[in-house]
Amino acid sequence: MVGGGRWRHSCAMSSSRVAAPAPVIRCEGLSKRFGATLAVDGLDLEVGPGQVYGFLGPNGAGKTTTIRMLLGLVAPSGGRAWVEGRELPDASVAAMVGSMIEEPAFYPWMTGRANLELFGAISRRADRATVAEALGWAGADSFADRKVKTYSQGMRQRIGLADALMGRPRLLVLDEPTNGLDPAGIREFRELLRGFAADGGTVFVSSHLLAEVEHVCDRAAVIVRGRLVEEGPVATLGAAGRKVRVEVLPPDLTAAQDALARWLVAVDGTTLLVGHGSGREVNAALVGAGVVAESIEVVKPSLEERFLSLTNGSAPAPDAAGSDGGGGVRAAGR
Ligand code: ATP
Repeated sequence: MVGGGRWRHSCAMSSSRVAAPAPVIRCEGLSKRFGATLAVDGLDLEVGPGQVYGFLGPNGAGKTTTIRMLLGLVAPSGGRAWVEGRELPDASVAAMVGSMIEEPAFYPWMTGRANLELFGAISRRADRATVAEALGWAGADSFADRKVKTYSQGMRQRIGLADALMGRPRLLVLDEPTNGLDPAGIREFRELLRGFAADGGTVFVSSHLLAEVEHVCDRAAVIVRGRLVEEGPVATLGAAGRKVRVEVLPPDLTAAQDALARWLVAVDGTTLLVGHGSGREVNAALVGAGVVAESIEVVKPSLEERFLSLTNGSAPAPDAAGSDGGGGVRAAGR
């Protein structure tokens, strides 16, 4: 992992199975207007403890503005928000949260370690040992004693991450944290976030990297032009875009087209793409028309395809992972 250490969070985990745990982040109708631009538009969100929660959206969607509001750096124009049960604005919240927003800013003529020791001293949340510990977690040991002006972007990101981890926060709020990391760094970073959550911490991480969210997050919200367009467990995002692909023998093509006409999206040779999520119902319609399919596959779009369609991008055609070849139904996808 990024750094070898693990940490324990001091948050009390309820042993009760009855009451749902209080959300770590909650927004109700949160909005922010900059002049004519409605950057965040009535956002409702809940992030539970121990989750790695993805905040996904294209450029200009309102991710950074939301995060700045959650950290008390920008005043909302409307709505309400709570972090760790404290309603914003609350000056104590920023000190409780480990955060990294956009490109971290450091004094370039000082080493990474000296920067963090300075920040730690100013905020009184970290002594030298705490800084060293956080540098280890962030995988920044090997270059922490070089001047920041000699760093690559990825190195600056790791120092920024160490800054966020100082003082063992219970909540990490990270804005596009993998920018500048190489593939190995991204992999280590994922492990770090998972380890952080496994130890009881909560992560709210923004990204436009869909694969990143699919790999590391439990739940995700998709935000487009300031509005929430989809929210849920990562594994179920995109279920609404499910289709069924049917392969028939040439003599059955016309009958199959007639039977599936109400849902039919496309026909390619003897393959029919059906805009309906239930393979069982598609199969029943075929059987009712006396057609035995060669294969029926449920094709679930990846989060990336779903994201592109939600954001009006050009989504590639869903790609089936395979068929059972025997007229049964198989869910393709991730
Ligand atoms: P990116 O992925 O490109 O960082 P984002 O999802 O973080 O984008 P924001 O930075 O929150 O998006 O911006 C949302 C909208 O608000 C954009 O239209 C942006 O131009 C606008 N905006 C952000 N900050 C300001 C500001 N201080 N003044 C005016 N407009 C702003």
